[in-house]
Amino acid sequence: MERAQLQPFEACPVCGSQSAAVLVSEQDLTAESRYRDQVFKNSLPPSTPDYMLTDLTVFTNAYPARLVVCQKCGLVARDPRFAPQASIATYAQDDYASEWLAPSFEEYRAAFRTRMPELTARVGRSATVLEVGSYVGGFLAAAGEFGWRAKGVDVGRRVSNFARGKGLDVFMGQLADAHFQDESFDAVFVWACFDQLPDPRAELKEIRRVLKSRGWLFIQVPNGDCVKMLEPLARWPMLREQVWRILAYTGLGGFPYQFGYTPRTLSRLARACGFEPIVIRNRVNICESGAAPAARAIPEQMRVVNRVQFVCDLIYHVSLRTLVKGPWMEVVCRKQ
Ligand SMILES: [Zn+2]
Repeated sequence: MERAQLQPFEACPVCGSQSAAVLVSEQDLTAESRYRDQVFKNSLPPSTPDYMLTDLTVFTNAYPARLVVCQKCGLVARDPRFAPQASIATYAQDDYASEWLAPSFEEYRAAFRTRMPELTARVGRSATVLEVGSYVGGFLAAAGEFGWRAKGVDVGRRVSNFARGKGLDVFMGQLADAHFQDESFDAVFVWACFDQLPDPRAELKEIRRVLKSRGWLFIQVPNGDCVKMLEPLARWPMLREQVWRILAYTGLGGFPYQFGYTPRTLSRLARACGFEPIVIRNRVNICESGAAPAARAIPEQMRVVNRVQFVCDLIYHVSLRTLVKGPWMEVVCRKQ
């Protein structure tokens, strides 16, 4: 990654503040990433091909950086981050191994099949829905199986072509360029890519435009509050390895994301763009939900993820649903 494609933390995209404090130094974040890579390489059979390490040890956000926290609103950010155009170009050119696309599709479709009954209960059995960042099309395929008319948008050339090859309806490009009609969708889903959007406000406004009145918006992101809770513990030498292992297994090791939205910052952003947050809850990364195909299933990872989920759900219920500390969170909103 050339430095020219990166920009330092200048202004927080949620509150505009220019003041940020260091949460994890570049040196420590690099060491944490190396530890994560080692954990997965040691957990998977030595014969595992490199492409099966996609999104475990191989990430788009792999350049050296530190983690900072906005002093005013608490947003976590990778510093530096992609410059806006570099962000789109990087994901557009993301070159996944062709052998990876099919197993990845199966992995996502299986994970989303388990979520569909709950989603149709909220949105309705008959619905027209949109996924922003549809990747290989796992969600679109699962949504179609459950009776929804599902469209996707993704800047990635390779993944969009793959999804179209599966007969899925995918627009290749940015959401605004798809020129969907006003109020054409019952629900919009942004699974695990909202943190990559260089202009989240513009994206939310466009989502609001294409949503029907009182339409649903689901956003799943890595939880900045979990990062802020765990990272300080890793400064203690006796806890470091344990914390890094938890971060690695929950998908947060080395924080390969642009932003760590927190329940508060994401709610604030959603409200500012005309949405009413209805539910904010703990989630795990969609592909760590136990539905991974055998080649990627790591029993110890599942044990750690389940334990973390249990503790975070306990905190959630004991705090009367006010503390959402899980490694990932989901915010469900309605158009105001
Ligand atoms: Zn801020």
